[in-house]
Amino acid sequence: MSALEFEILAKSGKARTSILTLPHYKVTTPIFQPVGTCGSMKGLTSKQLRELDCQIILGNTYHLALHPGGEFFGKCGGLHEFMNWDRGLLTDSGGFQMVSLSKLAEVTEEGVNFISPKDGSQMLLKPETSIKIQNQIGADIIMQLDDVVHVLTSGKRLEEAMYRSIRWLDRCIKAHSRKSEQNLFPIIQGGLNPELRKICLKEMIKRDCPGYAIGGLSGGESKDQFWKIVSLCTDYLPENKPRYLMGVGFPVDLIVCSVLGVDMFDCVYPTRTSRFGTALVWEGTLKLKSEKYQFDFDPIEKDCDCLTCKKYTKSAIHTLVTKETVGCHLLTIHNIRFQMRLMQRFRESIKNNKMPEFVRAFMKAQFKKKGEKKIVYPTWVIEALQSQQIELDYENDED
Ligand SMILES: [Zn+2]
Repeated sequence: MSALEFEILAKSGKARTSILTLPHYKVTTPIFQPVGTCGSMKGLTSKQLRELDCQIILGNTYHLALHPGGEFFGKCGGLHEFMNWDRGLLTDSGGFQMVSLSKLAEVTEEGVNFISPKDGSQMLLKPETSIKIQNQIGADIIMQLDDVVHVLTSGKRLEEAMYRSIRWLDRCIKAHSRKSEQNLFPIIQGGLNPELRKICLKEMIKRDCPGYAIGGLSGGESKDQFWKIVSLCTDYLPENKPRYLMGVGFPVDLIVCSVLGVDMFDCVYPTRTSRFGTALVWEGTLKLKSEKYQFDFDPIEKDCDCLTCKKYTKSAIHTLVTKETVGCHLLTIHNIRFQMRLMQRFRESIKNNKMPEFVRAFMKAQFKKKGEKKIVYPTWVIEALQSQQIELDYENDED
């Protein structure tokens, strides 16, 4: 059973732009989902998120379960009501954060044992518990609990984690009590091993779920391994269902993986990088703490329509970012808006039959350097795009 509709509007190779109709909102894909850890985006209100044109955001079950807790959401009408958010919402299973944030996490067939950071007591997160909490939170898309292993794990442990994730998916499907209101996505595992990935894909596709996530990447593997596993997954995943690549959010990665046929992304990168004074721009990044912006009275991006670019100069943000939280807040606004506009432009390029041209122009802007005649691209970007018949432009004729 599915509580979503997925309509492909236009295609270019493996890339597609679609309307994903969720219980709370019609989302156009490919889409970037900002992460709002504790029920509200770091410092941003729901109104600001709407103004930035965020269509779907991610809530971390781990943090929400610790405070205010699943029971609370069951009573208050869910996270949508709680944060006054009327658009799309996705929650993760909580497993990834339990394994990465807890000192003592141990995985057994029953679930993930961990020490509560709240009171030091031992807790057990089972697939059934994760789904129960996510049913109480009430997001449009909920995620299965999977057996999380480091991306560079191999051998018996990797195989065990992949098969266990399939068994846990079955327990999640069984425990899911709101199938007509919430969509449960499986998480494809199998690390960097193509054969394990294929077994996992085959088994999970058999379960005929509303959409599918690609998990276990973006954790320290080489970019060459990364794109090949993404491409293998999108080759096998059903055409008529949304595909979500977890934990990926660098602008170059978003574009390459959208070319490879991914529809949804999430990452803390645009918000986290704001804290270090970094702005995302069409040409790459600006480190606004640098002295060279002290007297730069232009906005971060002249064509950007966000509040920060309309009202503040790079000089103002340079001054604010080093000492005031408001500087980080203003940068977060711009960086999220940047990701939204980037994906919007990518979607438009598919509709206008100009996707390869758009990708070429973007990569050229990202990688060209002043005074350099030939542009040097990372090999993985060249090869990933060549796999989709997109050839990059090496002449730097804009100096
Ligand atoms: Zn801006």
